[in-house]
Amino acid sequence: MEWETVIGLEIHTQLATKSKIFSGAPTAYGAAPNTQACAVDLGLPGVLPVLNHEAVNMAIKFGLAIDAEISPISVFARKNYFYPDLPKGYQISQYELPIIGRGAVIIELQDGSSKTIGVTRAHLEEDAGKSLHEDFHGMTGIDLNRAGTPLLEIVSEPDMRSAKEAVAYMRKIHSIVRYLEISDGNMQEGSFRCDANISVRPKGQKEFGTRAELKNINSFRFVERAIDYEVERQIDILESGGEVVQETRLYDANKGETRPMRSKEEAMDYRYFPDPDLLPVEIKPEVIEGIRKLMPELPDTKKERFIKEYKLGHEDAAFLTASRDMADYFEAVATQSAEPKLSANWIMGELSGFLNKENREINQSPVSAEMLAGLIQRIKDNTISGKIAKDVFEAMWNGEGDADAIIESKGLKQITDSGALESLVDEVITNNPKQVEQFKAGKDKVLGFFVGQIMKATQGKANPAQVNELLRKKLSE
Ligand code: ADP
Ligand code: MG
Repeated sequence: MEWETVIGLEIHTQLATKSKIFSGAPTAYGAAPNTQACAVDLGLPGVLPVLNHEAVNMAIKFGLAIDAEISPISVFARKNYFYPDLPKGYQISQYELPIIGRGAVIIELQDGSSKTIGVTRAHLEEDAGKSLHEDFHGMTGIDLNRAGTPLLEIVSEPDMRSAKEAVAYMRKIHSIVRYLEISDGNMQEGSFRCDANISVRPKGQKEFGTRAELKNINSFRFVERAIDYEVERQIDILESGGEVVQETRLYDANKGETRPMRSKEEAMDYRYFPDPDLLPVEIKPEVIEGIRKLMPELPDTKKERFIKEYKLGHEDAAFLTASRDMADYFEAVATQSAEPKLSANWIMGELSGFLNKENREINQSPVSAEMLAGLIQRIKDNTISGKIAKDVFEAMWNGEGDADAIIESKGLKQITDSGALESLVDEVITNNPKQVEQFKAGKDKVLGFFVGQIMKATQGKANPAQVNELLRKKLSE
């Protein structure tokens, strides 16, 4: 039997407001426990929430970016449950009337095809606090710094059919919120995390199978692994005649498996109802239009522009626009060097290799866009060969200065003086009569041997095109 996987994601992204969604307390990460929770966040009696309009504006930006309906009226609701990190006994969220309605994003798959994934809704809510289990023997500590931090929960349609598609979708949403600068998207700090709903069904069947929900996954790699594991688990159950139970499961990254948290029977009854302390959120068309005017260029549009303006291939353009920082870096190198294709190659090749090796982001590159453009100019004007350029790049990476300084101090300037090259060529030809004979007998490959000898003699500094030309000329004399 062939099985089909069905996946829907609920992504929680922390909005980058300075203060909390219903209080004036700061949202900065990493402060000492309970130093950033005010009376409202603590849920003390007699306090009232006041909506932070910046969070509303950020939600509208997201709505515009995914071409979604933006509700003229949305309502905050109380989601009631008891947990030590939730002092009020309820979380303020949105339920029946979310701020953002239906929208869509396009994802690109590895085979080059693309697919539209529906977004059901996105709603504003506050985050809860955090339980700390490690530092307290036999007890649990509660840090309420995070309580009241604004979140945008983005709920997808069950449109994805593989773990790879789910990761592509998650990356796309991540890229959009980063482009919009509405979230720092920092996954280690929990600013971007997702719940994955997964079911399988026999291929061709119309009805969805019973789903399990994997809670709180905070890395792209884990999402893929967790889904793959869960799909296998469900198929195994079904193939041995069992039934999948609807439940919430937890992914254990250390063990690489999922395990049950609570089943449908134990599912919470949240008793949602409109929060009487907060007015409905009214969004006027003028407000939406005002925000529309401030929208930055988004990844899809930027990609198309890069293809047109810089004559890049589809894949290169997709790579270079995946993040706004990367796109800005590329544009700076491309314009300063006036060599877009070469710039793309260096960024995707050498630079990305070094970044990956040291686990750095593009904005942490020790080689600035200006420095890379300088290097590319020296390749273009034949001061150095592409091969030597790699050594220069490494030296730049290690903080030895810019390209010109390194070329100068290491004496890497290419030898283009034809007189000097000619005598080198003569020398190699005289010293290797056997290879000359082979070449004359039609063995064209031997040319590589001669080039190699000359490169060795010049430590790679001879201009390869000139050497080739001279060799051919001399050998056919
Ligand atoms: P709940 O009210 O339990 O949160 P929702 O209807 O809001 O459930 O759906 C939550 C997420 O689960 C959505 O992203 C949705 O696309 C996804 N989903 C719903 N049914 C299935 C299914 N059978 N298989 C996989 N994902 C599903
Ligand atoms: Mg839900």
